[in-house]
Amino acid sequence: MQKLIPVGVSNRHLHVSREVLEKLFGISELTVYKSLYQKGEFASEQIVEMIGPAGKFSHVRILGALRNYVQVEVSGTDAYHLGIHPPVGKFAALPEGESVTLKGPKGSLVLTENIMIARRHIHINPTDAAELGVKDKDTVFVAPAHEKGDKMESRLCIMGNVLIRVHEDFLLQMHIDMDEANAIGLKTGDQVFIVSNSIGFYEDPTAPDKKLITESDVRQAILKKQKILIKKGIIVTPAARDLGNAHHIFTN
Ligand SMILES: [Zn+2]
Repeated sequence: MQKLIPVGVSNRHLHVSREVLEKLFGISELTVYKSLYQKGEFASEQIVEMIGPAGKFSHVRILGALRNYVQVEVSGTDAYHLGIHPPVGKFAALPEGESVTLKGPKGSLVLTENIMIARRHIHINPTDAAELGVKDKDTVFVAPAHEKGDKMESRLCIMGNVLIRVHEDFLLQMHIDMDEANAIGLKTGDQVFIVSNSIGFYEDPTAPDKKLITESDVRQAILKKQKILIKKGIIVTPAARDLGNAHHIFTN
């Protein structure tokens, strides 16, 4: 069975440099509130007020560790509330005339850049990446592993353009923001699976295990332009094997 990927839902947050921390809080190190799933990452006890042209959020948490730059990550809904139009998934300036003020107990900082709507992505280590047939900077299609009858099943949807980020320190996890999570009925700890990667489509790993591949299965796969994953213990009928081989349908 293909690996299921746990989901981590990110609320609005920011990352800061030591310089910015000193300016806002008058301290040089963040203090840990709670460790996060990825190695070395934590929610700090430091909280700022975030003020935009149209609205504000009074409790926005800084995530550690310290970085070399300041980076604010908000959802599309947050951006609407603040009254700003940040780019998605990259560092770029806000449109002319827009800014966000970060306010701490000791000082404040006005930002006109380094604010973004984060891009959904999957953290993965090289071993898991090889197993799932993906590499760094690939994009994949992902679906929630909602079970039949699950109250969120009616929100089932496939997300495209999910960025793969490979690093040996990463633990397998997909990061999405609150908007995406709510739209498709996911919460932290739920699981998703890769529907298709660069080589083709997988079968649904939540489906009951198929033990026999027939010629009719292969015809279906050809029509749907799918690949069939041949796992240990699966029996392929001779007619299915001939047809599948001729169309390069099988993968393992
Ligand atoms: Zn992430």
